[in-house]
Amino acid sequence: QEKDYQFMLRTRSPGGFIPPQLYLTIDRLSDRYGNQTIRATTRQGFQLHGILKKNLKAAIAAIVKNLGSTLGACGDLNRNVMAPPAPYKNRPEYKYAWEYANNIADLLTPQSGAYYEIWLDGEKVISAEEDPEVVAARKRNTNGTNFEDKEEPIYGTHYMPRKFKCSVTVPGDNSVDLYSQDLSLVVITNSQGELTGFDVFAGGGLGRSHNQEQTFPRLADPICYVDKADVYDLVKAIVATQRDYGDRTNRRHARMKYLIEDWGLDKFKKVVEGYFGKPLQPFKTLPEFKYLDFLGWQEQGDGKLFLGISIENGRIKDEGDFQLKTALKEIVQKYQLPMYLSPHQNLILADIEPEIKEEIQGILDRCGIKTETEIDPLVRYSMACPALPTCGLAITESERIIPSILERLRALLVKVGLKEEHFVVRMTGCPNGCARPYLAEIGFVGQAPDAYQIWLGGDPNQTRLAEPYMDKLNIKDLETALEPLLVYFRKEQLQQEKPESFGDFCHRVGFEALRSFSTSYQTA
Ligand code: SF4
Repeated sequence: QEKDYQFMLRTRSPGGFIPPQLYLTIDRLSDRYGNQTIRATTRQGFQLHGILKKNLKAAIAAIVKNLGSTLGACGDLNRNVMAPPAPYKNRPEYKYAWEYANNIADLLTPQSGAYYEIWLDGEKVISAEEDPEVVAARKRNTNGTNFEDKEEPIYGTHYMPRKFKCSVTVPGDNSVDLYSQDLSLVVITNSQGELTGFDVFAGGGLGRSHNQEQTFPRLADPICYVDKADVYDLVKAIVATQRDYGDRTNRRHARMKYLIEDWGLDKFKKVVEGYFGKPLQPFKTLPEFKYLDFLGWQEQGDGKLFLGISIENGRIKDEGDFQLKTALKEIVQKYQLPMYLSPHQNLILADIEPEIKEEIQGILDRCGIKTETEIDPLVRYSMACPALPTCGLAITESERIIPSILERLRALLVKVGLKEEHFVVRMTGCPNGCARPYLAEIGFVGQAPDAYQIWLGGDPNQTRLAEPYMDKLNIKDLETALEPLLVYFRKEQLQQEKPESFGDFCHRVGFEALRSFSTSYQTA
């Protein structure tokens, strides 16, 4: 008899959009086949853990028949396309970001029917009409590269050397962690709010391996501006460049960030231009990017409301007085609301009529769900990957231990006189970096049993990379290692005219100063 192999199942949900019918299906599947919890991921999808092999087909078929998909959520191809989760109806740039996230996802979806043959016995379920422009762009031949292969017009026979990650956002909104993506598009509109084109970033990626200097996290670079009429051809040109020149001999060196790093930006742009068939246009100036999480009750811009709910580590569950799973099921069932998963493992309930606001808030209160002002901001701005026991690559705990780490950090902040302070903490159980710790102000990266590499100096808006500060910090020594840094931070804060974030402080004073202060503090 075959062993009971367990699987993780992940949805593909461009821009994090989950219609009510799909949410209720996922809720049901988690009870029937999973571990009774649902996890919102850092790429705006849902994960179900603990699905037995014999139940996979029924679970995937149920998702596809209920307006969802798992196609391309894993593997060496384009992954879930991210977009800001805010359902603003009066801000056209958000509408464009959402529309193009969907279209890029369609453009880069594998065309093979194998998915439907395997999981749905060949039954092709049409969930949405594809934009004819996207269909035409997929097939259009572009300067010297073959996009006309019948099976896979873009991926060809060998797909990509490695996973490929895209996002679409609006100027100033870094809710998608745009610098961490292989390819990010930023919507550019004219003074009438009409879409003219996109600024394009490329070459971001965070995964690395311990003790392998040739692997590293990297921020995406500004590449060019592209008119909206040409955007699909440019996306194809960038994908084709990575498809044809990305390293297929060494998986640790296969992401597009290494191609750009090895070639330099000029050569990368030249090769992309070759596929694109025209010169790249200069990048347009953008305002500073800010981290936005859209939590709490907010106006949607069409008379309706949306509500951003914080989910600690993305885990939707019922546990004691905390009944988030029950609350969401009740709300979605009763009011048939769509939701948007956020890139920070939170969710936004959309299209809420003002008259039902009190009822919804009542359900959440009854189920013990705290509002955004009731949660500790350390928790609000933190993220952790699942790690042990569900991820086979995990070296350390992450999701299960981060609540206690944040409590200890809060106690430490109180002790050093910074009781109101908060910063961005992210933790992963291995250096793959699924919760993007290399962009945090304090990043914990699992390195050995119970021990973490500590990364410091990222900024609160995730626009600067952190750097490795300390190796193999045993988690029991957390206070010993961090107290001196926080004392130093407080001392400097008292002398600053403008408040400075902890990440900016670490970056400004430098690691040498941090280490030397720590040594004198510990020996004093
Ligand atoms: Fe698993 Fe590592 Fe990703 Fe965490 S960061 S989920 S341990 S692969």
